[in-house]
Amino acid sequence: MAIAIFPGSFDPVTNGHLDIIRRAAALFDELVVAVLDNPNKKGRFPPEARVDMLRRVTTAWPNVRAERFSGLLVKYAQRCGARVIVRGLRAANDFEYEFQMAQLNRGMSEAVETLFMMTAPQYAYVSSSGVREIAALGGDITPLVPGALLREIREACEEIPAAN
Ligand code: ADP
Repeated sequence: MAIAIFPGSFDPVTNGHLDIIRRAAALFDELVVAVLDNPNKKGRFPPEARVDMLRRVTTAWPNVRAERFSGLLVKYAQRCGARVIVRGLRAANDFEYEFQMAQLNRGMSEAVETLFMMTAPQYAYVSSSGVREIAALGGDITPLVPGALLREIREACEEIPAAN
């Protein structure tokens, strides 16, 4: 059985993430969407809320499950029985970071392969940080996030006090 994991912050999940999830789910028997719980990097949404949002918007794909994880990615991949780490690539500036991570992970385990999937052009400029920023400033995030999450993402981001 071919199992892959798609790790990330998902703070919050965007339509760009969802497109990668849909495409990767079609390639593997099982896709584990892994929400990195990094105690040194507190996100806007608590990890359990990010997992919950992911679960709600991936119900259409029975072979997709969302989980929270901490620690080393390659170890987590091995615990899941995954031989593939899926990552999305948007613009050239994603490449440097992704290249470095993939090499470091390869150094720790050659048994786990990192596979990159190109963004669909309509999502090339969609990022969680962009969503948080636009929502906090009262902009329209409708095209950027799943409709079912629109309200709670907007409300959570609007709570950020305006910086001046
Ligand atoms: P991280 O902090 O690990 O980069 P993100 O939640 O920002 O976590 O992204 C998780 C993965 O999804 C990364 O591989 C990222 O490149 C990919 N990704 C994010 N946004 C998009 C998008 N709009 N199109 C394609 N891939 C994306």
